Amino acid sequence: NRQIVLASRPQGWVQESNFRLVETDVPALKDGEVLVKNIYLSLDPYMRGRMNATKSYASSVEIGQVMVGGTVGKVEASKNPQFREGDAVLGYFGWQEYGISDGKGLQKLPESKDIPLSTYLGVLGMPGLTAWVGLIEICQPKPGETVVVSAASGAVGSVVGQLAKAHDCCVVGIAGGPQKCNYIVQELGFDQAVDHRAGNLQEDLEKATPNGIDIDFENVGGEVMDTILGRLNTFARIALCGMVSQYNETQPAQFRNFGAMIASRVKMQGFLVGDYQHLWPQAQEELTSLLQAGKLKYRESIAHGVENAPKAFIGMLKGENFGKQLVKLSEE
Ligand code: NDP
Repeated sequence: NRQIVLASRPQGWVQESNFRLVETDVPALKDGEVLVKNIYLSLDPYMRGRMNATKSYASSVEIGQVMVGGTVGKVEASKNPQFREGDAVLGYFGWQEYGISDGKGLQKLPESKDIPLSTYLGVLGMPGLTAWVGLIEICQPKPGETVVVSAASGAVGSVVGQLAKAHDCCVVGIAGGPQKCNYIVQELGFDQAVDHRAGNLQEDLEKATPNGIDIDFENVGGEVMDTILGRLNTFARIALCGMVSQYNETQPAQFRNFGAMIASRVKMQGFLVGDYQHLWPQAQEELTSLLQAGKLKYRESIAHGVENAPKAFIGMLKGENFGKQLVKLSEE
């Protein structure tokens, strides 16, 4: 069983040397246990926080421990009556080829030709649910409102924009580079795209949002967020989902436009998708219908082999991914 463990804690930008590849034997199954061969590993920005020693909403990965993460795989052997060999399952086995579970938290997945298993780590999984909760529950979009979403071509952002279109909003995505900007407009149906790497963020955002901004689904923080804050309308809402531009920074970002939120009576709420489990079934149902109707498109960036997970993870934090970042660990 090849695994990636945390070798050391990053200071600033995460390096490949912060990880180590190890190989261990798969232990024999005890009664009640299930052995899963992982097919896909999800790489997500929150994992950067788990590499720090500082306590956050979830505990850190210890040095020498396998990196955590969501996985989909197939049951290879089972001594648990609830799972059979060959069952497709969603688990949380982390950066490794095999995982053993007592069945708790292991979710059987339906297998169908038109819904690939990888989507349970993307549009129909944690990132899709995050988009739904932040946009629908927290921001409550109304038809005609202007919604801005950052990291717009990514796992969460791409779903936010398409959901907002389904709610008849005007959607502006902020993404890095012309390819991602073309994609969100041409393929995903966003109204406008702004390239935050083009060097004219403020002007370009002004042009793309002539009526100001009613909803900010914030994935990035820093300069991008500060520029958005300067264009918020009265009673705008912000779903503070993530600040991926800051996760490897040692100095906190400075904001120029924070104070403007007072006069504009802006409501900002940080949220964690894990707190909204009561909404997941509804969200998943809606996302599945949109997907099946061809109204929810997605892209995946797939790295191959657990040994390539560190490189793909660092690449994602730098914007080298195009869509949901996955690692393929074995064949289906
Ligand atoms: P993405 O697939 O969007 O990948 C990260 C993207 O961030 C990169 O592709 C890059 O896109 C963008 N990015 C990186 N650095 C910068 C920067 N300096 N300025 C602007 N953009 C940058 O990741 P996810 O969709 O998985 O996650 C998006 C956000 O959602 C993250 O902040 C994450 O932490 C958060 N999140 C929060 C959850 C919650 O419960 N609150 C749950 C899940 C995710 P580009 O090339 O376009 O710049």
